[in-house]
Amino acid sequence: MHCINALQTTNKRLKEESELAKYKISIDRPGCIGDAICTALSRNWFMDSDGKASFHREIIDESEYESNYEAEISCPVAVIRMQKLD
Ligand code: SF4
Repeated sequence: MHCINALQTTNKRLKEESELAKYKISIDRPGCIGDAICTALSRNWFMDSDGKASFHREIIDESEYESNYEAEISCPVAVIRMQKLD
């Protein structure tokens, strides 16, 4: 029983830490080729009037991490960056 309680406490703490994680989004806009792949993968991304991608939120939390990460790794010219904040 003690082990189960300890495991539940650890899982709760890990979940809380992961929910607190924040990431900073950036883009090297001159390098964007405007293919809109990121906008198809994440609602944080949209095509701006100049034909380049932009994002709505610069700081995201864990709930938005996966879709923004998909956008980052799918960008064919690798201009999207995500940095984990302390
Ligand atoms: S996936 Fe990359 S190149 Fe394509 S629109 Fe988004 S930022 Fe620009």
